Amino acid sequence: MTATYLLDLECPRCETRYDASRPRNLCACGSPLLARYDLAAARALRASGWLGEDEEAVVLNTGTGLKYPDNVET
Ligand SMILES: [Zn+2]
Repeated sequence: MTATYLLDLECPRCETRYDASRPRNLCACGSPLLARYDLAAARALRASGWLGEDEEAVVLNTGTGLKYPDNVET
């Protein structure tokens, strides 16, 4: 089964957000865009059992700490 938790794309420079369903590379200001995910929804589905512990997840490079969570202070 496939599911997505991608919310939108956000510019780290000017904070403009773009619809993630439409291909886009750079913000209008020229900055690369970051992918934002709804981790609360993913965690809720994991807690409910809908998302099994052996499921594989693909996370695009976001710069928000999702790819390297050990580098993020909580
Ligand atoms: Zn921008």
